[in-house]
Amino acid sequence: MSFVRWGSDSDVYVFVNTESLYFTCCACIMEEESKTGFNDDFVCERTSEMIEHLKQHIKEGHNVPDRALESLKEYQKTVGEDHRKEKKKRMRSAIKNIDY
Ligand SMILES: [Zn+2]
Repeated sequence: MSFVRWGSDSDVYVFVNTESLYFTCCACIMEEESKTGFNDDFVCERTSEMIEHLKQHIKEGHNVPDRALESLKEYQKTVGEDHRKEKKKRMRSAIKNIDY
């Protein structure tokens, strides 16, 4: 699920992997260029970390549309700050409900 994609008003492409639940700033322009010729991804676990990361982009003068931060904050509100912990909790209670 992506929060923002590259475009005329955006220098960033940010998504959350719905399996691993890691946030990625794809080929981040604040990261080093890797052997592939692209910049490395910036990866983090928490919504707040990605929000801080985007604020850093803004500070550097990069284009980050408001909707990127808005959709991350919306996600944070809906899923909770530590969404990986929440997912594990849900899985545990699901497992508990299985009757052998
Ligand atoms: Zn970045």
